[in-house]
Amino acid sequence: MRLSRAFLPTLKETPTEAQIASHRLMLRAGMIRQTAAGIYAWLPLGLRVLQKVSAIVREEQDAAGAQEILMPTIQSAELWRESGRYDDYGKEMLRIRDRHDREMLFGPTNEEMVTDIFKTYARSYRDLPRNIYHIQWKFRDEIRPRFGVMRGREFLMKDAYSFDLDYEGAQKSYRQMFVAYLRTFARMGLKAIPMQADTGPIGGNLSHEFLILAETGESGVFLHKDLLEFDVMAAAPDYNGDLSPTVDFWTSRYAATDEKHDEAAWAQVPADKQVSARGIEIGHIFYFGTKYSAAMGLKVSGPDGTMITPEMGSYGIGVSRLVGAIIEANHDESGIKWPDAVAPFRVAVLNLKQGDAGCDAMCQRLYDAFPDDAVYDDRSERAGVKFNDADLMGYPWQAVVGPRGAAAGKVELKRRATGEKVELSLEDAIARIRG
Ligand code: ATP
Ligand code: MG
Repeated sequence: MRLSRAFLPTLKETPTEAQIASHRLMLRAGMIRQTAAGIYAWLPLGLRVLQKVSAIVREEQDAAGAQEILMPTIQSAELWRESGRYDDYGKEMLRIRDRHDREMLFGPTNEEMVTDIFKTYARSYRDLPRNIYHIQWKFRDEIRPRFGVMRGREFLMKDAYSFDLDYEGAQKSYRQMFVAYLRTFARMGLKAIPMQADTGPIGGNLSHEFLILAETGESGVFLHKDLLEFDVMAAAPDYNGDLSPTVDFWTSRYAATDEKHDEAAWAQVPADKQVSARGIEIGHIFYFGTKYSAAMGLKVSGPDGTMITPEMGSYGIGVSRLVGAIIEANHDESGIKWPDAVAPFRVAVLNLKQGDAGCDAMCQRLYDAFPDDAVYDDRSERAGVKFNDADLMGYPWQAVVGPRGAAAGKVELKRRATGEKVELSLEDAIARIRG
């Protein structure tokens, strides 16, 4: 992307309505634009990150054996009456009437709809287990939308739903998603900690919230230090074999949000291992047994002909919230420091003297070396403006080309995360950026 032609509406001033760093930085970097309270348009830079985050979520869901579908945003009230949640859900649900005066709603979650869809297909025990998911916009009429995309009213969620024949199977599905979540967040450069959680309006009796630590988090959290030092990708390289040891490690160390905090259990944690901090919830998994299958009449025939009511679980990830959460965990005074895996572009090529034949040629070669993964700052702006914008937008690498360097065949490469700078030949710079 050439900045001279890009739609990147950055802000010069720090927006006063934004209370936390990620919200300020997303507005300043031109990633999002608020269109109504808690509702945002995603601009090119923000959309690229949202798509990268979605892609990692999708890859891990697929690898864990879930299958993607796409359910609509608008649902009929009828479905929600079957589960009894239409009246329970309260003011957070956006209720709509169509021209025939039929009651509709903008889905805040999809347990009812997915159970209804699955019901039309599942006949026998051979149709189970299954796990199906989608990545779709949700609407919850939050009383206090704030912190930008972190607590929006319209937000993008990945929600998966598992169907199993029995308790054992359902626990296995739960463990699969548990590990999928650990891996998904680790791939984004986040240390997410699963914590015992309340089940809230989803219902059920087993649930974990996944939180990352951040000063601006809305929940107080208490956890055992070992959990922060655990290498997820090494311990759970794939979904084969028994996942219980990985899950057991996490569930055997204390970790709770303030809602579930237990002083007596906390006192058992050695003082030098106690970490109390604040956290942001980025995912939430539930096992709720037959709550929806029983209410909505989902049954399959077992091997001996008796009817079985499947056991279910649901598994949510706040995809749009993650974009803000990743920034909360990776920024400094100058701007964002994107982890490589979710960066909108891998490298920014900064031409310090637009129109200088040597600079232009070298920048073009750098830019061409990273098709669709480089931004080229080819604007006729001062060097300082280019440096500031590149720091603000947080590309992992900056390749800086000035007339002196270009004449000597050198590029100055800066790693945004550490600030480290090295001077390299064009070929070495390209190799270094490729990693
Ligand atoms: P919270 O406690 O933060 O209100 P929740 O427990 O109501 O969230 P879940 O029903 O567990 O939310 O939804 C799954 C995930 O969707 C959450 O873990 C979170 O990452 C995300 N999410 C929920 N509400 C919002 C929101 N208003 N804006 C952005 N993301 C959200
Ligand atoms: Mg939750």
